[in-house]
Amino acid sequence: MTRLEKPAAFLDRDGVINYDDGYMGTPDRIRWMPNAAKAIRRLNDAGYHVFLFSNQSGVARGFFTEQAVVLLFDWMRAELRAQGAVIDDYRFCPHHPQGSVEGYLQDSDWRKPGAGMIRDLMTHWPVRHAGSFAIGDRSTDMEAAEAVNLPGYLFAGGDLDAFVAGILANQR
Ligand SMILES: [Mg+2]
Repeated sequence: MTRLEKPAAFLDRDGVINYDDGYMGTPDRIRWMPNAAKAIRRLNDAGYHVFLFSNQSGVARGFFTEQAVVLLFDWMRAELRAQGAVIDDYRFCPHHPQGSVEGYLQDSDWRKPGAGMIRDLMTHWPVRHAGSFAIGDRSTDMEAAEAVNLPGYLFAGGDLDAFVAGILANQR
């Protein structure tokens, strides 16, 4: 069976779908960005794959484990899904060269500004490059998008759905 090729929205996590309060490791610390679920639903309805791609150097720094990161992503996806918003998949990079936890200290092309996470998602999913884009709150998110020739949109916080609606309006 051929899977349907669709454009993708690559969303940074911290600072985009939730506020970035620094090294987010547990659900109790998550404060959702206004209209985050609505924004993701809008992308689902418009025919986009929706992916998260997130640096999680807190693992390398010993603030939380890789397993905790997975649990948090899964919790967030479940919370969103209960509101009809589907995250198709996600990638995160636990590595950081200045960390302290053995096994996570190598430099990785997955770590933004590297584009390894986007490339990996594009390998595992039928992504149509044309029309795909990224949203992030840092210049490193923009650099990762640029590295794979995707438009990057810098989000300063606020109503995520209004921001996404603006992007989609300009795609047509
Ligand atoms: Mg961020």
